[in-house]
Amino acid sequence: MPSIAENLESIRANIADAAHHAGRELSTVELIAVSKTYPADVIREAVEAGQELFGENRVQEALIKIPTLPGRLQWHLIGHLQSNKVRKALPLFQLIHGVDSTDLAKDIDRIAGETGHHPRVLLEVNVSGEGSKHGFSPEILERDLELLLALPRVQVEGFMTMAPLAPEAESSRSYFASLRELRDRMSEKAGVPFGTLSMGMSGDYQVAVEEGATLVRVGSALFGTR
Ligand SMILES: *Cc1c(COP(=O)(O)O)cnc(C)c1O
Repeated sequence: MPSIAENLESIRANIADAAHHAGRELSTVELIAVSKTYPADVIREAVEAGQELFGENRVQEALIKIPTLPGRLQWHLIGHLQSNKVRKALPLFQLIHGVDSTDLAKDIDRIAGETGHHPRVLLEVNVSGEGSKHGFSPEILERDLELLLALPRVQVEGFMTMAPLAPEAESSRSYFASLRELRDRMSEKAGVPFGTLSMGMSGDYQVAVEEGATLVRVGSALFGTR
């Protein structure tokens, strides 16, 4: 079985290929090592191989692991966030990807006002329209965007999506392209660049890079199946 360092090297090479293929600067794409469910020891192997940006999806789990790992690491919250976990999440994460409703954004903003944080967030968009998925519908996003941008504490840096599970990476392409097009429309409308697009996982991160992802979230291809 390949080591984590070897996996990391091939994932980085694949990202570089995809960026090259799409005519993009490699420096515009960052790899998030999704370390959910993996213990600190395993995460440390990735750190030793040069990885410094990690993603967790549960606040409770992150609260336990993050303090045991080097302080220079960066952590993103990639999963659904419940309002009752916001207070604990704010000091742990540099970017919150899964802001999936206006109510949650307002809760984050209010709590950040109390704690003195200025949280950077991505709005999660359900571009596939799958009922099981979290996220704003494109219509609600468009309707509420002005209100979201007016929140004094929360800083909306871009968008995140999850493509429906599929055996073929190519099946994700149209969803990733939809998120990019939505971003372009919202940027135009709001006059805000929304430079961050979080899309692509182990099965489809190369396609995501080709379609404009600036953050890819890769777990099992790096650490092994959970
Ligand atoms: C678990 C998870 C990932 C990583 O999934 P893999 O298929 O293991 O790469 C990416 N994004 C989110 C939101 C996740 O929950």
